[in-house]
Amino acid sequence: MKSLNCNGKDEELTPQNILNEQSEKWKIPLVSEAFARKLDENDALHYIRDEFHFPKLTSLPKVDKSRINSDSSCIYFCGHSLGLQSTRVRQAIDVWLNDWADLGAHGHIHGRNPFAACDYPCIPTLQKLLGAEDKEVGVMNQLTSNLHFMMISFYRPTAERFKILYEERSFPSDEYAFQSQIRFHGYTPEEAAITVKPRQNEDCIRTEDILELLKQHGQSIALILLSGVQYYTGQLFDIETITEAAQQQGCTVGWDLAHAVGNVPLKLHDWKVDFAAFCSYKYLNSGAGCIGGIFVHSNHFDKDYPRFDGWWGNRDATRFQMAKEIDRGVGADGFRISNPSIHQCATLAASLQIFDEVGIEQLRKKSKILTQYLQCLIENEINQAASKFKIDILTPKDPKQRGAQLSLRIIGADARQIFNELERLGVCLDYRGDIIRVAPVPLYNSFMDAYRFVSVLKSLKL
Ligand SMILES: *Cc1c(COP(=O)(O)O)cnc(C)c1O
Repeated sequence: MKSLNCNGKDEELTPQNILNEQSEKWKIPLVSEAFARKLDENDALHYIRDEFHFPKLTSLPKVDKSRINSDSSCIYFCGHSLGLQSTRVRQAIDVWLNDWADLGAHGHIHGRNPFAACDYPCIPTLQKLLGAEDKEVGVMNQLTSNLHFMMISFYRPTAERFKILYEERSFPSDEYAFQSQIRFHGYTPEEAAITVKPRQNEDCIRTEDILELLKQHGQSIALILLSGVQYYTGQLFDIETITEAAQQQGCTVGWDLAHAVGNVPLKLHDWKVDFAAFCSYKYLNSGAGCIGGIFVHSNHFDKDYPRFDGWWGNRDATRFQMAKEIDRGVGADGFRISNPSIHQCATLAASLQIFDEVGIEQLRKKSKILTQYLQCLIENEINQAASKFKIDILTPKDPKQRGAQLSLRIIGADARQIFNELERLGVCLDYRGDIIRVAPVPLYNSFMDAYRFVSVLKSLKL
């Protein structure tokens, strides 16, 4: 199918147009199992699915074993929470275990993936995913720790400019980090936190409202730190526009890319983002709690910032001279603190290989169509006069303003009951507040997954 083959000229067509055209061309109705199957057959990325372990229905805790076909895999729409394991991961861990067994401490230098440099193989692919230049990306710690370390350097409040601008509904860990940083500098969140929220009766935040806040309060804002893709609504922010507007007001701009990296293409260097932090276990499939990373723009390389140093921020060449003064590495390398976990870096590198082979642009192309197809099925199959409940999609309808997630609000039935019932029938999703978050991940989800999911949803007996 031309639209999935990444030939560029379909760019102007919306994903819905592409779906309509295919349906006409194949003479198969859009809302049909045959159409979903045909989309999969024509999806150049469909084969990658076989590289991932889909949990079996028989192993999942909440599944009602009396109501399922016991050999089947679950419908996994939870990649926004924990990406699936690829078959390459076990192999990479075996290499490390064998090197450790055979070489002991000599593995630091002589391992096939030398322990002491195990973060470096992750860097080239991350650079591409983030749109970063050399030395702008570092692999270290976990996300919240990295937010803290970045803020130690980049949130430097003064008497006139001391506020942090963030989302009212930011991820709780981020909120705790912001509030504790504010207190660390002697302010209270009441005086130094400024939040942006959706308008009344809306779910997503308008870019214009962020720009307006910046215009009004920009001179008192030291740092603006938003998420690239909002975890709750799935909204993809206009990173470039917001970054530029905030910097014009003299603010430093950081982004939390937990739900953006590996999900949507990023151009952090060109967008002149000051810094960013991310985790790797959501769309990057590295495994729960795996090592995260940072981005620091090259504009900052020669500036002197307060830092919390550790020996891994020292240049590799002089680290083991064990000098009293740190000889700091260039760029993001100089922000590292401890020696990286080979256990984690090995799994991350193995998972990133797949992204390197496929390319984020091709993934994004499929992603837009897959998410649109899911939306289309929900609108046609669930939001019908005859159905017992309706679904309001919080996530922006514009494919350019979202990644691989739809957040669903259930109208006319109990969302918790629907979620529980879906779990019993072997659908892996996520439930927060009163919202069901569904992530059709282009790397391993199929059009048939979307079709099967909506069929199950439609047939629920409440
Ligand atoms: C997943 C996620 C986290 C998790 O933080 P860790 O430090 O990796 O446990 C934090 N913030 C956001 C926005 C997230 O999506």
